[in-house]
Amino acid sequence: MMRSATYSRPIRVHIAPAAIRANYRLAKQRTPGARVWAVVKANAYGHGQWRAVDALRGEADGFALLECENAVALREADVSQPILLLEGIFSAADVAAVVEYRLTTVVHCAEQLEWLIAGSRPEQPLALYLKLNTGMNRLGFTAVTLPRAMELLRRLPQAEVTLMTHFAEADGERGIAWQLERFRALAGDWRGPLSLANSAVILRHPAAHGDWVRPGIMLYGASPFADQSAAALGLRPAMTLASRVIAVQEIEAGERVGYGGTFTVPRRMRLGVVACGYADGYPRHAPSGTPLAVAGRRTVTVGRVSMDMLACDLSDIPAAGPGAPVTLWGEGEGGAVPVDEVAAAAGTIAYELFCAVAPRVPVVLGES
Ligand SMILES: *Cc1c(COP(=O)(O)O)cnc(C)c1O
Repeated sequence: MMRSATYSRPIRVHIAPAAIRANYRLAKQRTPGARVWAVVKANAYGHGQWRAVDALRGEADGFALLECENAVALREADVSQPILLLEGIFSAADVAAVVEYRLTTVVHCAEQLEWLIAGSRPEQPLALYLKLNTGMNRLGFTAVTLPRAMELLRRLPQAEVTLMTHFAEADGERGIAWQLERFRALAGDWRGPLSLANSAVILRHPAAHGDWVRPGIMLYGASPFADQSAAALGLRPAMTLASRVIAVQEIEAGERVGYGGTFTVPRRMRLGVVACGYADGYPRHAPSGTPLAVAGRRTVTVGRVSMDMLACDLSDIPAAGPGAPVTLWGEGEGGAVPVDEVAAAAGTIAYELFCAVAPRVPVVLGES
């Protein structure tokens, strides 16, 4: 890793492997008896696939991701745990890797089964996650398509099958009971293993854990719920987006701030300009009033987010001048701001903020 001093612009994304491990352990604690796939898709929700894999290499029961080539890379880097392809294979060309690298693969449509039948032999072990569509209406077999899948499965006698589904409203009022009911109806007298739960189900619906759970967002320390904070759930933030104030302006009442002049200063304001903009992955649609912390104190953004900068109100933080530390989200020298609060203010979710952090932002690895 390069020293921070190598970069002149002060924005950094700090990743804490110890927090990822602590959050993984919480997922284990909350699912006694179940095994836990660490979901590291989407570059580990923007935290870096290898950073997450290395943080959990010694303890994850398995790793779940999307692309065959990433799964193969994990195997070639001596990851010995099961690896799950969450969307299964994308073409017949992926079958060889599934067999050779012993990848566990979701099957959600008949075509995937046909590719596996054509590309594998009965003496080659095969681990499949048969996905049932119970109301998410994205991937999986329904009452109409399941009989054909079962027929095709008979031509893969070597396959060890786990039944899986995915809940659409585990974090909401409608809950999961209605989908569980459909799942049971589809599963019939199935006695084999089950995989049902993402983070929201792990934390809120202990009756629906099954044999293998699939936590993603909770590993990275954000809450899957709009009405319960990550801290209240016992999660630790794994990502901190930090920067510094690079300029201070004293603005008279009635002046406007930034592109489009969307914010009018109500009274004389001490305004801080922070080296962080939408080209760093900070959401441009974050309105005036989005929380951040400067020099240990919470404040809010004012005006539109530009490509490389945003502005904030420093009226109540007189000690914060150029160079003052800023926390955009997470916990750092600038203070603490839960990513979920920034996401809520910007009308999105922590998942999207994490995934959007731009490659130009230098990464600093926390102590592991
Ligand atoms: C991404 C994903 C998960 C993880 O969901 P979180 O809400 O991040 O916990 C679980 N299961 C499947 C099938 C997924 O695609």
